[in-house]
Amino acid sequence: MARIERGHCFCGAVMAVMEGEPFWICFDHDDDCRRATGGPMTIWIGYRPHQVELTAGKPKTFSKTKGVIRSFCADCGTSIFYADEGLRDELYVSIGFMDAPERFPPQAQAYWDMHLPFINMADGLPRVDGYTRRRDPALGNPRER
Ligand SMILES: [Zn+2]
Repeated sequence: MARIERGHCFCGAVMAVMEGEPFWICFDHDDDCRRATGGPMTIWIGYRPHQVELTAGKPKTFSKTKGVIRSFCADCGTSIFYADEGLRDELYVSIGFMDAPERFPPQAQAYWDMHLPFINMADGLPRVDGYTRRRDPALGNPRER
C-alpha cells in the first residue's frame, strides 16, 4: 500500500493528502523562504504534483519571484506550497503543514550560503549554495530580483 501522509494549516481550513514517497526533502536557508514562512529556515518536502490532493479549502497564492508561486492559508497564514516553473513536475510542501513532520528527515541543506550565522547543525548533510535541484536557467536566478 502506498504511503499516505496528511497535512493541515493552523486553523484547519486547508487540508491535503500526499500519496507515495516524496522524491526530495531539504532544509532551505534562503531569505525569500525565511520571510515567506516566518522561520529562520524551513524544510521543503518535494512531491510530484499528482501525488498531492487538496481535501479542504483553497490556499491563497502569491508570487514575487519570476516563475515561483507560494501558497498559504488566507485565514491563518500557514505556508503550504512552493511551486516553481523552473522546477517542472515538482511541488514542495512546507514541513509545518504536515501532520507528522517527524517522518520527513531532510537530505541536504539548500542555500547554505544564506544561513543565519548562529545556526549550527552537525547533521553531516551536504551543504549546497543555492538550489539543490537543477532549476531551469531560462527563468534566471531568483537572487537577481
Ligand atoms: Zn488556516
